[in-house]
Amino acid sequence: MITIGVLALQGAIAEHINCLKQLSNVEVKEVKTLEDLNSIDGLILPGGESTAMGKILNYFNLLQPIAQKINEGLPVWGTCAGMILLAKEISNQPETYFATMDIKVKRNAYGSQLDSFQTNIDLPQISPNPIPLVFIRAPYIEVAKENVEILASVDNNIVAAKQNNMLVTSFHPELTKDLSWHKYFYNMIVNK
Ligand code: GLN
Repeated sequence: MITIGVLALQGAIAEHINCLKQLSNVEVKEVKTLEDLNSIDGLILPGGESTAMGKILNYFNLLQPIAQKINEGLPVWGTCAGMILLAKEISNQPETYFATMDIKVKRNAYGSQLDSFQTNIDLPQISPNPIPLVFIRAPYIEVAKENVEILASVDNNIVAAKQNNMLVTSFHPELTKDLSWHKYFYNMIVNK
């Protein structure tokens, strides 16, 4: 049995918890305090609003301790706003948050026309079936250093990547019925 935490300050928390509950051998924990971090094997940073999450993380002095846990190897998966929290660089603002992953992301990268959209993608490495991708005012990765493994691109923009213990997706698997990304993250934790 492993315990996967979901950072529960703001955003699509319940949806991730709902997906995790469908996996076997997984316990789920809402992470709100530093103590909560000590009892988890992996952490999901949900989608939402990165600026709001950043403010709350700052207010509760959680930014630096969580960044330290990630740097020490805690498996972490950032979806959408969560990807922004992990990026070392954000091309359209100076402020960064955990800044642990060697990626440069663009916030709200799809502009107004394609603000939110859905597509399907074949990624045999993740799932034998086509995977539905839901983008909501999503970021994408503009630059990934060579130590970052690119997992998925849409229209030549990187939308999923992995660097050691860190996984990021621009889109929201927790808003679909497809559990393949949650299973992929589960495997990242158990094969650590
Ligand atoms: N636009 C949000 C941000 O910049 C991310 C959107 C999301 O997480 N769905 O933080």
